[in-house]
Amino acid sequence: PDIEALIAAHVRDVPDYPQAGVLFKDITPLLGDADAFGDVIEAMAAIFGPVDKVVGIEARGFILAAPVAYEIRAGFVPVRKKGKLPSATFAQEYDLEYGSAVLEVHQDAFAAGDRVLIVDDVLATGGTARATASLIQRAGAQVVGIAVLMELSFLKGREAVGDLEVRSLLTV
Ligand code: 5GP
Repeated sequence: PDIEALIAAHVRDVPDYPQAGVLFKDITPLLGDADAFGDVIEAMAAIFGPVDKVVGIEARGFILAAPVAYEIRAGFVPVRKKGKLPSATFAQEYDLEYGSAVLEVHQDAFAAGDRVLIVDDVLATGGTARATASLIQRAGAQVVGIAVLMELSFLKGREAVGDLEVRSLLTV
């Protein structure tokens, strides 16, 4: 399948969400289509070589990262918003357009030197991915790269994540 065309056809642009002036990429039509969802998961699973763990970023990242982990027989690790993980965590603050937020990961989520793939739906400014990579490194693992469905290149997320290797199925 032509993955770029598939994603373009199944992602809906929603103007002024979550605030005025933002054109939000809504992936729910893609998730709801059996063939599109399956083809996209298979494509994401094929991007990087073998990894030990796949990290999903709350909340849309979970929806993609878990089936990718299953497909490549890797473990799944959630990175969550502050206060949601029950055991001891590392926390990382990161900047949002207005203000900041905190992401967390369990301190014992990885074995030393684990090879880790980050999965999310959209790379925008890159702040979320950068904070996630920093958490994984602090927990003693190694980030192999980040795989996203869609990259909003005008927001320059690739530059923000520095040396982290980014692969997107569709760049707009
Ligand atoms: P960043 O930190 O790169 O600016 O933003 C990326 C994060 O915000 C991702 O976790 C992603 O889910 C969410 N995000 C930002 N913009 C969009 C968008 O247009 N559509 C979707 N689905 N998620 C977005």
